[in-house]
Amino acid sequence: LPGDRVTDNFTRQVSDCLWSAVQPTPVKQPTLLAYSAEVASMLGLSDADMHDPDMVQTLGGNGALQGMFTYATRYGGHQFGNWAGQLGDGRAIYLGELVHQQRRFELQLKGAGETPYSRRADGRAVLRSSLREFLCSEAMHHLGIPTTRALSLVTTGEPVVRDMFYDGNPEFEPGAIVCRVAPSFIRFGHFEILASREELPLLKRFIGFTIDRDYAEWWPGTGLLLDVDNPGQGMIEAWFAEVCARTAIMVAHWMRVGFVHGVMNTDNMSILGLTIDYGPYGWTDNFDPSWTPNTTDAQGRRYCYGRQPDIARWNLERLAEALATALPETNGLSQGLSHFDNVYFDALTTSLADKFGLDSWQAGDGELINDIFELMQRAEVDQTLFFTHLKQLDISRPQLSVLEDAFYTEEGLKDFGEDIQGWLQRYSQRVQQSTLSAEQREQRMSASNPVYVLRNYLAQEAIDLATQGDNSRLLTLLEVLRHPYTEQAGMEAFAKKRPDWARHKAGCSMLSCSS
Ligand code: AMP
Ligand code: MG
Ligand code: MG
Repeated sequence: LPGDRVTDNFTRQVSDCLWSAVQPTPVKQPTLLAYSAEVASMLGLSDADMHDPDMVQTLGGNGALQGMFTYATRYGGHQFGNWAGQLGDGRAIYLGELVHQQRRFELQLKGAGETPYSRRADGRAVLRSSLREFLCSEAMHHLGIPTTRALSLVTTGEPVVRDMFYDGNPEFEPGAIVCRVAPSFIRFGHFEILASREELPLLKRFIGFTIDRDYAEWWPGTGLLLDVDNPGQGMIEAWFAEVCARTAIMVAHWMRVGFVHGVMNTDNMSILGLTIDYGPYGWTDNFDPSWTPNTTDAQGRRYCYGRQPDIARWNLERLAEALATALPETNGLSQGLSHFDNVYFDALTTSLADKFGLDSWQAGDGELINDIFELMQRAEVDQTLFFTHLKQLDISRPQLSVLEDAFYTEEGLKDFGEDIQGWLQRYSQRVQQSTLSAEQREQRMSASNPVYVLRNYLAQEAIDLATQGDNSRLLTLLEVLRHPYTEQAGMEAFAKKRPDWARHKAGCSMLSCSS
């Protein structure tokens, strides 16, 4: 082994296996900044456990606890539409699996040092991106959106070099590590790398493993590895259709709340339909389907808000191709893709009906809703505030004033106010035909329109404070975002539209890909 390394972390191409044993690289001084009490208790860990010095060391990558087995996995992926070859866990290291109350979880330290899959990067993560992942994955869970979770956020006491400034000077930022938790971190890219390298026996075994372990509830197997060569009539097709359905539901939720993932490469797509890999994600402030938070994607806008459903489907097509290499006799994966279309349409229309407080989705609703989305885009109206304010509309006397606070500019209000007032009239008529009582309508709207979302500038303010050693805002946001649909006394400041100063400020709306 090169140098003084005691494990095989050195960067290389790996073949015919799915994981490599590695150890986290120790850091200077792990300090626990925050943890999710819910995730801890889901894992059977008490508050005292979380503060135990050995636990904090472990969560910072300084030595595994008894029974832990550390490794990094191999995957590939299509990045921005092109096959990118081997990627893999370049900075995430598994601590193994944990079973608590019959539920199985994988734990990963993100930013714990180099692995065979680090390529030319350092295996580390900065506080900025780690805090964003920690807070947002917990927030997504409480919004009712399938996601990986986060147990802890630990600073390492070591600087990390990131984005070069234009003058060529490297920027040092505090390093940090998130311990993230999910039933499975398997990605589309795990299947793709095996298909692309024609490691077909392993690909078959892996498909069987995934169905047996990660789809155990859906597939009441025998606990034996599924025989992929004789899976039973239509079995693999049905499983793929289920993956498609879960992916569709996840994306419909993103569209519902205005979440933009930012890097929907196939290596960032979970086989369980969980939101995974929080990088340059963002929340739409002013409604705009063409908006992307990812500066790397500012030109092509491949991963902008409005394209997310199409990209999810494109990614599923790549997964289907990979599966088909191992299962040439399987025809019918295209049915899974049609299933995606149907499930997405149902999930989207149901959630739109809920957001607008309609009893059901009816002919003509598509046009009504498209019209307001177009007006919102042109008038620069805040997506989150639009819905929480629309809820307060007096249907018998619809007044634009209810929405005024959701406009970003005076011009928007001036130029489009009349059109939007006209639309409110049409909307009120539609609501009056509905069978819902005012109370039911309000309930329905409240349950699907969040009051609090992790706007980029809110995350950035928490980052700025944490960088100065003050984690109070981080903890406040963690708490507020646990109840995103409920107005909370004293927390009004977190339910406002993006302030003007944040509009073009670095980090506050746009971010670069890897940090
Ligand atoms: P992402 O765009 O964040 O999904 O990352 C794409 C690939 O780059 C994955 O294989 C990551 O593990 C790897 N990667 C990203 N950042 C780093 C880093 N700082 N060190 C090592 N690998 C990284
Ligand atoms: Mg990734
Ligand atoms: Mg990433």
